[in-house]
Order: sequence, then structure tokens, then C-alpha cells
Amino acid sequence: MDLSVSIFDLIFLKFQNPMSQLQRIAIAPSQLQQGQILLTKEQQHYLERVLRLREGDRFIAMDGKGKSWLAQLAGEQAQVLEPLLVETELPVSITLMVALPKGNGFDEVVRCCTELGVTCIAPVLSDRTLLHPSPQKLERWRRIAAEAAEQSERSFVPTILEPVTFNTSLSFANSQQYICVARGEFPHLKDCLQHKGQMTNDIGQETIVIATGPEGGWTTPEIENAIASGFQPVSLGRRILRAVTAPVVALSLITAACEV
Ligand code: SAH
Repeated sequence: MDLSVSIFDLIFLKFQNPMSQLQRIAIAPSQLQQGQILLTKEQQHYLERVLRLREGDRFIAMDGKGKSWLAQLAGEQAQVLEPLLVETELPVSITLMVALPKGNGFDEVVRCCTELGVTCIAPVLSDRTLLHPSPQKLERWRRIAAEAAEQSERSFVPTILEPVTFNTSLSFANSQQYICVARGEFPHLKDCLQHKGQMTNDIGQETIVIATGPEGGWTTPEIENAIASGFQPVSLGRRILRAVTAPVVALSLITAACEV
């Protein structure tokens, strides 16, 4: 279930764009009707009182689903002037499956991977996961994702799924699926990605799924199950990375391989 829209109703973060000085606000897709954005009371307050915009002033409205518009304040509404070209999104869709790390480590994973362009994050309960998160945690991660998306000028707020067990999450089956394994003789992720020569052509539909394990690593049955579900085991290099570092490295390698 994607609750991100309800978050947009609550969060109106200010972002100062150094190029255009235009402010951005997040809107729910349903607020856009016939070329008008029907502003909520909170949004009107934010635009007029906090940002001090006046009638006729322009700002950027983003729906968190990849679309944004140049809009002009007109009373309780805003007039859509033009759709804006999305230039900050990756040409591939990346789903990151992360075994929940200890403490607040997942906050950092959500923040960094959102900055790096992830599309969807699936928190995973693995055999060696110590943490079983509360529903408040999920809300917190979604808020962090929304903030990080605005900060990094993305027009898409990543979806944070409800935590699921690793075996359930294996059914996210897709054409390019990798499981990062810290020890063993596995090919490097960067070499696997480079072999996908057609990746840059047929890019719109392409989805990459990548899984990283907890502090204690994946158990052997987990790795075997993943392989049986079509995941390719990969290395992220010769050093053992922390559970919080591994997803950031994996995301960086994917963006380096597929961004033109
Ligand atoms: N304690 C484990 C390592 C866990 S590291 C051990 O000593 O073997 C946490 C997770 O980060 C791993 O499950 C893996 O998914 C990922 N990871 C860390 N370093 C990696 C590497 N060099 N290559 C691939 N994955 C790595």
C-alpha cells in the first residue's frame, strides 16, 4: 500500500532552487483538476504566510509520482502554467530490498538511497534481522524519503513498502535481480550491469531489483532461495561493507552504469 499521498497532505517543505528561486510544494495528484491545483488550507497558509507568495507569484508543484508543474498562485487555487521536464530521475526503475539494520540505520539508507534515485525500497525481515519495526517507523521512513526527494530536487518520492519477510519479498521477481553477498567468489555488480548492453536503449521499462543483507549477513538458505527465485549473487568489492553502506554502494554502481 502506498501511503505517500497522505504524507504530501502534511508536508510542505520549502526548497530554495538556486537557479530560479522558485519554491516547491508537494501536492497529491487528485488536487490537480482541469489545469487548476486546488490548494488545501495548509498549502495556502504555507504559500502565503510562510513563503510569502502573493497572487500571481509562481512556484513548482510536484506530485511525488514523477510529475511537476510550473504554477501560479490565484487565490485558493493555483493555475498550472506548464508541465516541467523531469531531468532528475534515473532512466531505470530500481527496487532496493534491504534487510533492516540495527538501531536507526535504516533512516540513513532511506535518505541516501533516495538522493541516489531509488524508486522503491522494501524493508525486509531476514533470518538474522534483530529489529521488528513499529508502524511509526514506516511513517518516519516515508517522511524521510519525501524530505530527501525534495532536497535532491527529485520529482518522484520513492515508495517505501511495508516490511515483509525475505522469502515473501522474493516474489518481486523481475528480469534483473541481484543479491549482494559479502563473502564468496561472485562477479562484481558493476560487471553484471555492464553486460546488459541493451540497458540504455530499452530503459523506460527496465526494473532492477537489488537486495542487501543485515549485519550478520544472509543465511545460506536465504541465498539459495534467492538464487532459486532468479537472483544473481554479486559482490560489491573485496571489503566487507556495513549493512548501511552496502545499499548506498549498490545504488551508486547502478546509477553510474545506467545514467547517460
Ligand atoms: N557479517 C557478515 C557481513 C554482513 S555485511 C560477514 O562477516 O560475512 C551486510 C550486508 O552488506 C551483506 O549481507 C551484503 O548484502 C552486503 N555486503 C557487504 N559487503 C559486501 C561486499 N563486499 N559484496 C557484496 N555485498 C556486501
